Amino acid sequence: MTRYIDVQDLARLVNRKGLPTCLAEMAEYIRQDYLRWHDFEKCPRLANHSPDGVIELMPVSDASLYAFKYVNGHPKNTHNGLLTVMAFGALGDVDTGAPVLLSEMTLTTAIRTAATSALAARYLARKDSKRMALIGNGSQSEFQAIAFHTLLGIEEIRLFDIDRAASEKLAANLAGYPQLKLTTAASVADAVRGSDIVTTVTADKAYATILTPEMIEPGMHLNAVGGDCPGKTELHREIVERARVIVEYEPQSRIEGEIQQMPADSPTTEFWQVVEGIAAGRESAEQVTLFDSVGFAIEDYSALRYVLDVAKALDIGHDINLVPELANPKDLFALLQPAAVERKASAA
Ligand code: NAD
Repeated sequence: MTRYIDVQDLARLVNRKGLPTCLAEMAEYIRQDYLRWHDFEKCPRLANHSPDGVIELMPVSDASLYAFKYVNGHPKNTHNGLLTVMAFGALGDVDTGAPVLLSEMTLTTAIRTAATSALAARYLARKDSKRMALIGNGSQSEFQAIAFHTLLGIEEIRLFDIDRAASEKLAANLAGYPQLKLTTAASVADAVRGSDIVTTVTADKAYATILTPEMIEPGMHLNAVGGDCPGKTELHREIVERARVIVEYEPQSRIEGEIQQMPADSPTTEFWQVVEGIAAGRESAEQVTLFDSVGFAIEDYSALRYVLDVAKALDIGHDINLVPELANPKDLFALLQPAAVERKASAA
């Protein structure tokens, strides 16, 4: 049987645990899996592009589990009542190939992305960081804000979006976090000024320059989340040139990250090396660090593993017949016999 988790199940799971707990626990699953970097069979995700967006498949496996995510990125979708990013995914048993989990991954992706951002910032941001600028106040933004508040101790967030209604929505959704001081800035520069951390999480299929060099102050940590596709970036090239750049998986980030703007041999460090302690995170208080996030399959593997563990513990979701289970595994045809079909129909 395969455990099936739909959107309502996942929402119930998060509400039962509490979002801050989910973020913290998922960040730990992600950290544990980055520590096992060499156990995974990895490849850059497979991306099918169209004029307005992209649909991607993200596979990864270790000796026991295979994971994949289907995810899109269509920045114009919100004008038509659809999310920019929608996703679902699965876990399979490597020994047999049997699917063990089929799950929604739209909410899960927002949680895993924010958990990864906060985890990276723990290694890269200055320890005394208190103020963050949050540029792009759409679907991912609440998760980023809550992750940085609860996992990193960020006390103040300066919001900016070209759509003022998006910032108002974000502020209203964070009303349950009264210790978090929120102010809406008049511009990107206004939001960024004096911030310790700058998170960019905008959606536009363009070589955008949300951040320009004169906005960047010594010691800032940049968490660049929205540039995650060829031809879709958020930072001016000079910022990338000057910063200490940490990527998830270099072969994929060269194609999709901010570093797509750089020569193929520009210096970068993979995040697993920092987690393992074989490379430094931040090297000095004045250094500008950049987590050039595009989202990597190991994070989804960790997220699905977490969802499955919690769903089982809390008895959330239900088991479905996604693949046949047969008395005689060589007799698939038996499933089509009228008696078997009738039995199934009456059981349902
Ligand atoms: P969304 O469409 O819900 O929100 C994007 C927001 O960005 C919108 O409110 C829009 O008005 C704003 N925006 C666009 N251009 C802007 C600009 N120039 N300045 C300020 N604001 C601007 O999308 P979302 O689901 O929140 O996703 C945001 C981005 O994050 C997307 O690009 C998505 O592909 C990316 N993403 C990355 C990862 C990752 O792992 N790195 C994971 C999930 C999503």
